Amino acid sequence: MDYDDYGSNAVELAVDLANADRDDPAWAAAFVAAHHEWFTEGTALELTPRAVKAVATTGDLVREVAVADSQAQVMDRLNALLALASPKPYATDHDGELHLHYAAPEAGALEQLTTTVAMGLSQVVVQHGWQRLGVCAAEGCGNVYLDTSRNASRRYCSNTCSSRSTVAAYRARKKS
Ligand SMILES: [Zn+2]
Ligand SMILES: [Zn+2]
Repeated sequence: MDYDDYGSNAVELAVDLANADRDDPAWAAAFVAAHHEWFTEGTALELTPRAVKAVATTGDLVREVAVADSQAQVMDRLNALLALASPKPYATDHDGELHLHYAAPEAGALEQLTTTVAMGLSQVVVQHGWQRLGVCAAEGCGNVYLDTSRNASRRYCSNTCSSRSTVAAYRARKKS
Protein backbone atom coordinates (compact mmCIF):
# COMPACT_ATOMS: atom_id res chain seq x y z
CA MET A 1 0.00 0.00 0.00
CA ASP A 2 1.36 3.37 -0.96
CA TYR A 3 0.96 6.04 1.67
CA ASP A 4 3.43 8.46 0.19
CA ASP A 5 1.13 11.06 -1.24
CA TYR A 6 0.00 14.15 0.60
CA GLY A 7 -3.47 12.82 1.42
CA SER A 8 -1.87 9.90 3.16
CA ASN A 9 0.59 12.05 5.04
CA ALA A 10 -2.26 14.24 6.21
CA VAL A 11 -3.83 11.22 7.88
CA GLU A 12 -0.82 11.20 10.20
CA LEU A 13 -1.79 14.67 11.33
CA ALA A 14 -5.28 13.31 12.04
CA VAL A 15 -3.91 10.39 14.05
CA ASP A 16 -1.55 12.67 16.00
CA LEU A 17 -4.44 14.97 16.83
CA ALA A 18 -6.62 12.10 18.06
CA ASN A 19 -3.73 11.00 20.30
CA ALA A 20 -2.82 14.45 21.61
CA ASP A 21 -2.57 14.55 25.39
CA ARG A 22 -5.03 17.19 26.61
CA ASP A 23 -3.99 17.40 30.26
CA ASP A 24 -2.15 20.68 29.77
CA PRO A 25 -4.54 23.61 29.15
CA ALA A 26 -2.18 24.81 26.41
CA TRP A 27 -2.27 21.42 24.64
CA ALA A 28 -3.84 22.69 21.41
CA ALA A 29 -1.30 25.50 21.02
CA ALA A 30 1.47 23.00 21.70
CA PHE A 31 0.02 20.59 19.14
CA VAL A 32 -0.21 23.24 16.44
CA ALA A 33 3.33 24.47 17.20
CA ALA A 34 4.69 20.93 17.02
CA HIS A 35 3.01 20.45 13.63
CA HIS A 36 3.75 23.90 12.19
CA GLU A 37 5.00 22.37 8.93
CA TRP A 38 1.35 21.64 8.07
CA PHE A 39 0.45 25.34 7.98
CA THR A 40 1.18 27.90 5.31
CA GLU A 41 4.26 29.87 6.24
CA GLY A 42 3.26 33.00 8.10
CA THR A 43 -0.03 31.60 9.47
CA ALA A 44 -0.74 32.96 12.96
CA LEU A 45 -0.81 29.84 15.11
CA GLU A 46 -2.46 31.36 18.20
CA LEU A 47 -5.82 29.76 19.00
CA THR A 48 -8.78 31.39 20.73
CA PRO A 49 -10.48 29.35 23.48
CA ARG A 50 -13.25 28.69 20.98
CA ALA A 51 -10.77 27.42 18.42
CA VAL A 52 -9.24 25.12 21.06
CA LYS A 53 -12.68 23.58 21.61
CA ALA A 54 -13.08 23.12 17.86
CA VAL A 55 -9.66 21.43 17.63
CA ALA A 56 -10.76 19.06 20.43
CA THR A 57 -13.98 18.26 18.56
CA THR A 58 -11.99 17.43 15.43
CA GLY A 59 -9.71 15.14 17.45
CA ASP A 60 -12.75 13.47 19.01
CA LEU A 61 -14.28 12.81 15.60
CA VAL A 62 -11.06 11.21 14.33
CA ARG A 63 -11.12 8.91 17.37
CA GLU A 64 -14.79 8.12 16.74
CA VAL A 65 -13.92 7.05 13.21
CA ALA A 66 -11.21 4.78 14.64
CA VAL A 67 -13.54 3.09 17.15
CA ALA A 68 -16.46 2.73 14.72
CA ASP A 69 -17.39 -0.87 14.01
CA SER A 70 -19.26 -0.54 10.74
CA GLN A 71 -18.88 1.25 7.45
CA ALA A 72 -22.15 3.11 8.10
CA GLN A 73 -20.79 4.49 11.37
CA VAL A 74 -17.54 5.50 9.73
CA MET A 75 -19.45 7.32 6.99
CA ASP A 76 -21.58 9.22 9.52
CA ARG A 77 -18.53 10.30 11.50
CA LEU A 78 -16.47 11.18 8.44
CA ASN A 79 -19.32 13.28 7.16
CA ALA A 80 -19.58 15.07 10.50
CA LEU A 81 -15.86 15.79 10.24
CA LEU A 82 -16.08 16.89 6.60
CA ALA A 83 -18.92 19.26 7.51
CA LEU A 84 -16.38 21.20 9.62
CA ALA A 85 -13.93 21.46 6.73
CA SER A 86 -13.66 24.19 4.10
CA PRO A 87 -11.67 22.51 1.34
CA LYS A 88 -10.06 24.66 -1.31
CA PRO A 89 -7.57 22.42 -3.08
CA TYR A 90 -4.59 24.02 -4.71
CA ALA A 91 -1.33 22.82 -6.20
CA THR A 92 1.98 23.77 -4.64
CA ASP A 93 5.65 22.83 -4.74
CA HIS A 94 6.72 24.71 -1.60
CA ASP A 95 8.82 21.74 -0.48
CA GLY A 96 10.20 21.02 -3.95
CA GLU A 97 7.60 18.34 -4.76
CA LEU A 98 4.45 19.09 -6.70
CA HIS A 99 1.47 18.19 -4.50
CA LEU A 100 -2.01 19.27 -3.46
CA HIS A 101 -3.05 21.11 -0.34
CA TYR A 102 -6.65 20.90 0.86
CA ALA A 103 -7.12 24.19 2.70
CA ALA A 104 -6.80 27.67 1.29
CA PRO A 105 -3.29 29.01 1.95
CA GLU A 106 -4.70 32.19 3.49
CA ALA A 107 -7.10 30.34 5.82
CA GLY A 108 -6.64 30.65 9.58
CA ALA A 109 -4.82 28.00 11.61
CA LEU A 110 -8.03 26.32 12.79
CA GLU A 111 -9.47 26.08 9.29
CA GLN A 112 -6.21 24.73 7.86
CA LEU A 113 -5.98 22.13 10.60
CA THR A 114 -9.61 20.99 10.43
CA THR A 115 -9.64 20.80 6.65
CA THR A 116 -6.32 18.97 6.34
CA VAL A 117 -7.35 16.43 8.98
CA ALA A 118 -10.84 15.87 7.53
CA MET A 119 -9.70 15.56 3.92
CA GLY A 120 -6.57 13.53 4.70
CA LEU A 121 -8.48 11.04 6.81
CA SER A 122 -11.36 10.76 4.34
CA GLN A 123 -9.01 10.16 1.40
CA VAL A 124 -7.33 7.24 3.13
CA VAL A 125 -10.58 5.69 4.36
CA VAL A 126 -12.23 6.00 0.96
CA GLN A 127 -9.21 4.57 -0.86
CA HIS A 128 -8.16 1.86 1.57
CA GLY A 129 -11.27 0.91 3.56
CA TRP A 130 -13.01 1.93 6.76
CA GLN A 131 -11.12 -0.58 8.93
CA ARG A 132 -7.73 1.01 8.31
CA LEU A 133 -8.00 3.13 11.43
CA GLY A 134 -7.96 1.41 14.80
CA VAL A 135 -7.38 1.85 18.52
CA CYS A 136 -4.41 0.16 20.20
CA ALA A 137 -5.34 -3.08 21.94
CA ALA A 138 -2.60 -2.76 24.59
CA GLU A 139 -3.90 -2.30 28.11
CA GLY A 140 -3.98 1.33 29.17
CA CYS A 141 -2.85 2.72 25.79
CA GLY A 142 -5.84 3.71 23.68
CA ASN A 143 -3.81 5.39 20.93
CA VAL A 144 -5.37 5.65 17.50
CA TYR A 145 -3.25 4.16 14.70
CA LEU A 146 -3.33 3.80 10.93
CA ASP A 147 -3.05 0.21 9.78
CA THR A 148 -0.81 0.06 6.72
CA SER A 149 -0.19 -3.68 6.92
CA ARG A 150 -0.95 -5.67 3.79
CA ASN A 151 -3.77 -7.71 5.32
CA ALA A 152 -5.05 -5.04 7.76
CA SER A 153 -4.08 -7.16 10.74
CA ARG A 154 -2.52 -4.55 12.99
CA ARG A 155 -3.73 -4.33 16.61
CA TYR A 156 -1.21 -2.07 18.33
CA CYS A 157 -0.12 1.54 17.85
CA SER A 158 3.60 0.74 18.13
CA ASN A 159 6.14 -2.02 18.54
CA THR A 160 6.44 -0.99 22.18
CA CYS A 161 2.75 -1.72 22.83
CA SER A 162 2.91 -4.92 20.81
CA SER A 163 5.84 -6.38 22.76
CA ARG A 164 4.46 -5.10 26.08
CA SER A 165 1.23 -7.01 25.39
CA THR A 166 3.09 -10.15 24.32
CA VAL A 167 5.05 -10.11 27.58
CA ALA A 168 1.88 -9.50 29.62
CA ALA A 169 0.08 -12.37 27.89
CA TYR A 170 3.05 -14.65 28.51
CA ARG A 171 3.12 -13.75 32.23
CA ALA A 172 -0.65 -14.29 32.50
CA ARG A 173 -0.32 -17.75 30.92
CA LYS A 174 2.53 -18.65 33.23
CA LYS A 175 0.53 -17.62 36.30
CA SER A 176 -2.54 -19.68 35.48
ZN1 LIG B 1 2.76 20.89 1.39
ZN1 LIG C 1 -0.44 1.50 22.07
